Amino acid sequence: MLREKRFVFVMLLFISVGFMTSCDTVTDVIGDINLFTDSDEVQLGADVVTEIRSNPAEYPIYTKNPAVKSYLKSRIFNEILSSSKIAKKNVFNYTLEIIDDDDVLNAFALPGGPCYVYTGLLKYLDSEAALAGVLGHEIAHAEESHAAERMTEHYGVSIVIGMVLGENPSELAQIAANLFTGIAFLANSRSDEDQSDERSFEYLQDTRYYPGGVKFFFEKLRDDGLISSGGGIEKFLSTHPDPVERISSTDARLQNAGLTVYTYANADESAGIFRDEYKTNILDAL
Ligand SMILES: [Zn+2]
Repeated sequence: MLREKRFVFVMLLFISVGFMTSCDTVTDVIGDINLFTDSDEVQLGADVVTEIRSNPAEYPIYTKNPAVKSYLKSRIFNEILSSSKIAKKNVFNYTLEIIDDDDVLNAFALPGGPCYVYTGLLKYLDSEAALAGVLGHEIAHAEESHAAERMTEHYGVSIVIGMVLGENPSELAQIAANLFTGIAFLANSRSDEDQSDERSFEYLQDTRYYPGGVKFFFEKLRDDGLISSGGGIEKFLSTHPDPVERISSTDARLQNAGLTVYTYANADESAGIFRDEYKTNILDAL
């Protein structure tokens, strides 16, 4: 029955990744309960990776210049993972993949560690610090088991326990049907977003990158007038709410840590921004 449970959740996860509709009405009554083990999450994530690979029309993997992925992984992703604050680095399977879609400004993480970033987001950002902030945020979603918590919360503890025990087949069918009508539980709650920003800030403090990079994407969106315009940013905003509030939260964290509050536009290179490296190795290489 474990296999059956896994299959259902893989399908739910995969469908929800595709819809990414807004869902921010959750309460915190059971919001932090996760009934999945680490190995459950690793297996779920791996199964969703398989589904993504088998659906290249919706998730085309970027292959044009392999040097870009190598650079992202060795220079930025692994640098973040080197943080001592990432406790599950040897438990989860942290990987990074690029999805070749310039229209999507988004990134996401699956349970157990697989992370994805769209070329649309890579081409929009303008520094390694900004990208490191986003990737740290996604790693935090995995590290903190937010998707598994949302699954537990969305369906209710009793139903999930029933699934674990291999019961409630009719409820499983109903859940699957609900997902097809557009319910997406991978959309993150405000508290998930805030916690992931905080964790990303903490991870980046162990790296070469300015911890305030966590908010650079939102500042650029704000300055470009894109926050309420829909389009490519729509998916990101639906899964990552409250960009403006997140800027001020990060500024407060910078102040509390005794660090200079820079914006993406005025940040001093000596703080760990790496604009030139980003342009040469990512923007010009994509
Ligand atoms: Zn998020």
